Order: sequence, then C-alpha cells, then structure tokens
Amino acid sequence: MGVRLYNTASRSVQPFSPQDPGRVGIYACGPTLYGPAHIGNFRTFLFYDLVHRYLEWRGYGVHFVMNFTDVDDKTIAAARARGATLADHTLVYERQVVEEADLLGVRRFDVYPRATAYIGPMVALVERLLERGLAYTTPDGSVFFRIAAFPDYGALSGRDPGAARTGERVAGDDYGKEDGRDFALWKGIKEGDREAGAAWSAPWGEGRPGWHLECSAMALSEVGGTVDLHLGGEDLIFPHHEDEIAQSEGATGNPFVRHWLHAKHLRVEGRKMSKSLGNIVGVGTLLAEGVSAAALRHLLLSAHYRTELNFTEEGLKASRRAVDRLLDFDSRLLSHPVRSSGPESGVREASESALASFREALDDDLNIARGIAVLFGFVNRVNGRLDTHAVIGRAERDAACAALASIDEVLGLIEVGRRERRVDKELGDWIEERIEARRRARAAREWMRADAIRDELAAEGIVLEDGPAGTRWKMRQGRH
Ligand code: AMP
Ligand code: ZN
Repeated sequence: MGVRLYNTASRSVQPFSPQDPGRVGIYACGPTLYGPAHIGNFRTFLFYDLVHRYLEWRGYGVHFVMNFTDVDDKTIAAARARGATLADHTLVYERQVVEEADLLGVRRFDVYPRATAYIGPMVALVERLLERGLAYTTPDGSVFFRIAAFPDYGALSGRDPGAARTGERVAGDDYGKEDGRDFALWKGIKEGDREAGAAWSAPWGEGRPGWHLECSAMALSEVGGTVDLHLGGEDLIFPHHEDEIAQSEGATGNPFVRHWLHAKHLRVEGRKMSKSLGNIVGVGTLLAEGVSAAALRHLLLSAHYRTELNFTEEGLKASRRAVDRLLDFDSRLLSHPVRSSGPESGVREASESALASFREALDDDLNIARGIAVLFGFVNRVNGRLDTHAVIGRAERDAACAALASIDEVLGLIEVGRRERRVDKELGDWIEERIEARRRARAAREWMRADAIRDELAAEGIVLEDGPAGTRWKMRQGRH
C-alpha cells in the first residue's frame, strides 16, 4: 500500500506522494540558538530522524534540510545579556545541539542553513510581496504582511483569520500595523541591534528579518520548488507555519508544501516543561549523569509522534532494559553455534515476517510503537528457538542478523547501544589499567604518584574503594 502519513492540512492520513520519488524535499524547523536545546526539542529532532531514516529505508532519495534559527528576538536578547555578538552566541549552541544529536544517533541531515546566511533571499521575498500588494512598510522601517489580501490565510490551522493572533513569541512590534492580524516580515532596527551584529540593510530600511520569513526563505532556497514534507513541533502550526504558507505562496504563486507533519510535545513527569516549573532537562546533563544515550533515544522515539509522550524516571529505566535486551539478543545471535546444512529451526520465517510487519507498522503513519513491538516479538520468538536449538542453520542465522540490522537502520537503537557498550568497555579497561598502575606505585611507596592516579580517576567521576581483596571502583552516579 505504500507509506501513509497524517497531513495536518487535510486532517487525515494520506498516501505519501512526493513530486519526484527520486528526490523527496524535506524542510524541518530546527532549533532556535538562543540557549541549549532540551529533551523536548530532541523528541522532535528524533521524529525528524525517524522520517529521514524511514523514507531512505523505503528507497526514497531524500534531500533533508533542517535550519538553525540564529536570529530572533529571544536570541538577540540572550546575546546582548551576555555581551556577546549574535554570531558568537549562536555558535556555542549550534555546536552543542549537533554534538548531542550525534550522541543520540540522529543521522546528519543534508543541509543546515543558518538564517543569517539567507538575508538576500529574505529581502527578495519581501520585495515580491511588496510588489504584489501583500505587504506594506511602516514608518519605523518595518514591513508587515497584509493578511486581508491573502484569503487562504488560516487554512492549515483551521483558525478563523479574524481571531486575535496568539502565540507570538515577542509582542510589542506592532507599531503602525494596518490590521491587528498582520505579522512582521521585517523589523526596523532597534537600539543595540547593530552592536549585537543583528542589523542588515534593506531597500526600505535597516533591520532584521521576522522569524517566519526566515523559514520561508531557507525552505524555498534549499528545498526549492514545492516542499514535499514540512516538519515541526505542534506549537509551530500557528502562527509560524501559517505565516510561512502566506509568505511563500503569496510571493511565488505556487503551492508551498504538499504534506505537513507535526509532532506532539514532550511532557516531563506529566507536566509541561517550563522555566517556572524548573523541569527543563538537557540531553548533555542527562548523559553526564550516566543516563544511557541508547535508552534516552529509545524513550524519546518509542511513542507515536502524534501521541503525548511523558518523560519519567520509570520510563527511562524501562527503556534501559529494552535496549539491554536488544543488545544481548544481538550478541547472542552472533555467537550462537551454526551449521551449514540440515533442517532449519524456524528462525528464517520469524525474520521474514518481522521485516514485513515492521514495514506495515511504519507505513501506517510511522507507527513506531507498533514497530518496536514487532521487533520485540521477533526477539522473543528467536530467543525461544535459540533456547531449544543448540545449533541453528548458518543461513537462517544470517537472515535473522540481516533483519535485525535492517530494522535497526530505522531505529538506531543497537547502533547507539553498541557504541556505548564499546565506550563502556574501553573505559573499564582504562580504569583497570590505572588501578594497576596505582597498585604498583603504592608497592614502590610512591605515594604522590598513587594519589595523583586516584585524583585522575576522581576527575572522571570514578571512586576507588580499597579492601582486603584489592581495589574496586564505581561510578559516582549510578547508570540508569
Ligand atoms: P525551538 O528551539 O524552540 O525553536 O524548537 C525547535 C523544535 O523543537 C521545534 O520544532 C519545536 O516545535 C520543538 N519543541 C519545542 N518544545 C518542545 C517540546 N516540549 N516537546 C517536543 N518538541 C518541542
Ligand atoms: Zn520554521
């Protein structure tokens, strides 16, 4: 039947039909680089990763663009508060989010446009909108989109265009607006913008682009033509994506996006993540506390993207167990005795049916929860065969390994988990080597040297305990 995806615009699940199956153009709204990304953002980025991996797995040629929003009100304010330029400030968070995405196994996308590198295309878009009567300038050098001149406004979100605009990130920029609903395409220069490196010249005056305009310009420049899939978190449907449509279609006269996908937000212990609740959690912080990246990946990925996902300690522990089961199965399969001929044990059928059911589940609007259930059903079935068959056929073992590897091309759980176990093993070997060096130093009564080794380990969070049977070590914080 092929891949079917829910489309926010039609409010229904539709067959996925890219314009050109050889090159599926995807645009995803990426992080705003005003501060560190949190695990909620990463639920959304892992959803992007799933779309990316799955469509490639299904044989599509994917051109995936995720932007970095490196100029907006919040980011300028944060840079100014630190006395940094916008460019210096945002580079820190760009590096951090890329590093964390790598640790969680998010496959690199094809292009990562930064908004400030697309000021030219943004100015050109605004010029088109001015020419077409869809935008107007105000005395402070700002430019607004004229919603009254775009009758389709509101179609994506189903909102009444007459309703008041809510959800704007920063209010107070509406000086000189014709209509309360109109939104800023360009914001006239304000005090401090130039010092922060956040001012660009334009025919109607110096200033900076509005956030919505940035995504239209990057999507049109980097995906080009009509975007097959546009992705984002659910908070972006209105006004961000509604405004992207108005600007892009208003300027080009062509349909902007064929299919809109939005991921639901993550909650933490049942509550919304917010500064006032003090429950904003970062990936880096969790990993530094010893949380497994593979477990975190599993937890953030395991629920269907249109259902609520609640991040809890319990959930994290369950994810850890799930990943361990997978890794143990992976090793068991590789080391199970095989023979080249003789009757098969049923492992081949289990592998073939797992692959088919996995595909069916994911084709159905990326039903990952069902896909993961299929995987564990497969693990249980094959484990059962390995329990009762001391030796299995080489070909069926290879079929099981191939099915597991293929499913993991999409899930990336064994990929990240194996990397972590390798790191754990390397770390363990290094600690043992240091403990042995310390034992030799102590035997030679070189106390300073012995203490230096203890400090070296302590700096890595490793605590030594000397006992009658020798020295044991443990991590300062337990691994989940
Ligand atoms: P931002 O950096 O706030 O612009 O967000 C980057 C991406 O993360 C956007 O697609 C947001 O919709 C998404 N996002 C923000 N908060 C959450 C959350 N709590 N859960 C899931 N996704 C989120
Ligand atoms: Zn965007």
